[in-house]
Amino acid sequence: MTVTELAENVLVVDVAMSAHLSTKIIALTGERTVLIDSGTKDAGPSTLLACLRERRVAPITEIFCTHFHHDHIGGLTQLVEESGAVVLAHAAECGLIADPSAFGEALSRSRLHGAAIPSGSSVNVRAIWDGYSLEVGGRRWEALHVPGHTWGHLAFWNEDESILIAGDAVQGVGVPFRGVTGQGTGIPYYVDPHAYLDSLDRMRALQPEVLVTAHENPAWDGTILRGPDIDSALAASAVEVERIDAMVRRCEKSGLGDVESVVAHVCHSYETSPTLQAAVTVRAHLARVRRDRSL
Ligand SMILES: [Zn+2]
Repeated sequence: MTVTELAENVLVVDVAMSAHLSTKIIALTGERTVLIDSGTKDAGPSTLLACLRERRVAPITEIFCTHFHHDHIGGLTQLVEESGAVVLAHAAECGLIADPSAFGEALSRSRLHGAAIPSGSSVNVRAIWDGYSLEVGGRRWEALHVPGHTWGHLAFWNEDESILIAGDAVQGVGVPFRGVTGQGTGIPYYVDPHAYLDSLDRMRALQPEVLVTAHENPAWDGTILRGPDIDSALAASAVEVERIDAMVRRCEKSGLGDVESVVAHVCHSYETSPTLQAAVTVRAHLARVRRDRSL
C-alpha cells in the first residue's frame, strides 16, 4: 500500500488497478476524516481502511465524489455501510452515482463494444455545487465545478497552500487502460471538448503549486505534480484536444464521417485500440464540428 502525506492531514492513498495503473483516494484528516473518492469496488475500501486504521484517524463523516466513474466510486457502498458517512457530489451526477446503469446502457448502444454495465452504489447522494466549501484538519477546501471529463466533475482547491485535487479533470495524452485488448494508452476522455478546455483554463489560472491527478499519465511522472510541471501538464492536456479536433475535422472533410471510422482513425494515431471512452471523446468532437458547420 502506498500512502503519500501530501501535507499535514492530507493523505493520498494509492489503490492499484493494474501493474502500472492506480486510482487515488484522498483522505483529509483531523477532527473528522473526509474522503475524496472511494477507489475501485475490489480494492478501494480494504486499502483505505487498512491505511486509516494504521494511522488511528477520526471516523469518516463525508465522502465527496469527483465524478461517477467506477474507479472513483467503487467502494462507496461498503464505506458508507461501515462508517455511516454522507456522500456528496455535484448535482449533475448524484443520480449517476446512486445508479450508474443509465450511463452504462447508453454506452452499450455504441456499436464498438459491448459495455459492462456497472452496478448501482445504493447510497443516497447529497447535491453540492461550485463554491461549496468545507473545513477539515485546519484547512479550507473549495469544490470547483470543472466539467469536461464528465458533466459534473468536481476538483477540490485549497487556496492557502495552492493544492488542487483534480481527479480526472486533467487527461494529458490519455490514461493507460487495461481492457480486453490488453494494456495500452487511451486517448483523452471527455464528453465536451469546450467545457474540458474551459476547465483546464480555470485550473491553470489558479496557478496551483501542487496538483494531484487520479491516474498515472504518459505525459508526466507520477500523479502528484509540483511547480512548473503543473502548467506543462495543463498546457499539454489542452494541446491534445486541438490535436484530436484537427484529426476529426480532417476525417469529416474527407468524407470519413461515420463514428466507427473516425474513432478507428483517431485511435490508430494514438497507437491504441478503439474503446468506449475513445468513442465518447470522438462523438463529442464530431458534435462540435457539426455544430460549427451549421452556424
Ligand atoms: Zn473518470
